Amino acid sequence: MKFIEFMQVNGHQELAIWTDPAVGLKAFIAIHDTKLGPSMGGTRIWPHATDDDAIMDVLRLSKAMTYKSAAAGLPFGGGKGLVVADPRTDKTEAMFRSYGRFVETLNGRYVTTEDVGATAQEMEWISHETQHVLGLPESLGGSGNPAVVTGYGVFQAMRACAVALWGTDSLEGKTVAVQGFGNVAMSLASYLRDAGVKLVVTDIYGAAKARAAELPGVEIVGAEDIYDVAADVFAPCALGGVLNEETIARLQAPIVCGAANNQLHEESADAERLRLRGIIYAPDYIVNAGGVINVASEYTGSYSREWAMRKAGEIFDTVTRVIQRSRDEGITTKKAADEIAEQRLKAERIN
Ligand code: NAD
Repeated sequence: MKFIEFMQVNGHQELAIWTDPAVGLKAFIAIHDTKLGPSMGGTRIWPHATDDDAIMDVLRLSKAMTYKSAAAGLPFGGGKGLVVADPRTDKTEAMFRSYGRFVETLNGRYVTTEDVGATAQEMEWISHETQHVLGLPESLGGSGNPAVVTGYGVFQAMRACAVALWGTDSLEGKTVAVQGFGNVAMSLASYLRDAGVKLVVTDIYGAAKARAAELPGVEIVGAEDIYDVAADVFAPCALGGVLNEETIARLQAPIVCGAANNQLHEESADAERLRLRGIIYAPDYIVNAGGVINVASEYTGSYSREWAMRKAGEIFDTVTRVIQRSRDEGITTKKAADEIAEQRLKAERIN
């Protein structure tokens, strides 16, 4: 019962459940909103301990996708898929073909792509059963690795923060502390290095740290030390929930701008903590929209990297509007971003 109430309060349209014991599959798809277009959002592969945890996760994530696409000006609603499985050990073709049949039952109201735990391989398996899947390898006409576009979008967001704080979009001579050196961070780092930025990087995996250490001038620090780095920008590019009461108090950087999803541990309270400390927080779902922008191009049937990069460039303007609105209204940037997304949803809602 609590899920139905949660859906009603948060405006969710649909929650679909699929089990296929023969292939070890238990999956959920949440459709939050389809007013702007088909609901779009990746499929997360994660071994949730309980069904309650899994359902709450997929419901929350689907709503976040509505806001992400709305704020990015894309013709998509918000949805999310969840396969309850361990991505390191459980993934099989049979499992993902069954999941593809599940996606197909929704007749295009939900379009899937990659998320945490998923790779292009699973998207390819899903594509044997449904056409409502994006993020296929370039060799199959897909958009390939989205991190290239996502990293570019994060760079544009950072330039917008620089203008808001220092009155110039130049990041030359600044220091950026990067948490996590995976796909997006590598793309971001190439733009930052070209812009004359000094990078301080951490990762929990030795191989990722070694990759960063190969770049000239990059300083590597321990995973816990990244919050204390005397930087101009803190860029969370690992997992969510990293900004909390304790870490926010430690931050030295006047700007937080990174790719990770759900960076705020407690959304409203932590956004307010950042505001009170005078730190400009570029809302994660605005900053990292390059990923969904990239698959939006693939959705048209003829993927264009050029279009995706141009559209990701608009993240600069969106972040500028968000910061301006938060200053004008004396509200957090998170609230300002939500208002911008809600405004578009209201304006374009046809019923
Ligand atoms: P990735 O898995 O390639 O990289 C993440 C890196 O973070 C890994 O190297 C991992 O070792 C490291 N890491 C994990 N926990 C850490 C910790 N506590 N401290 C330091 N490092 C840690 O992932 P990615 O594709 O680069 O995505 C990064 C983030 O951006 C994720 O939160 C993802 O959801 C979000 N995001 C990615 C895209 C995209 O296009 N890939 C799009 C939108 C949002």
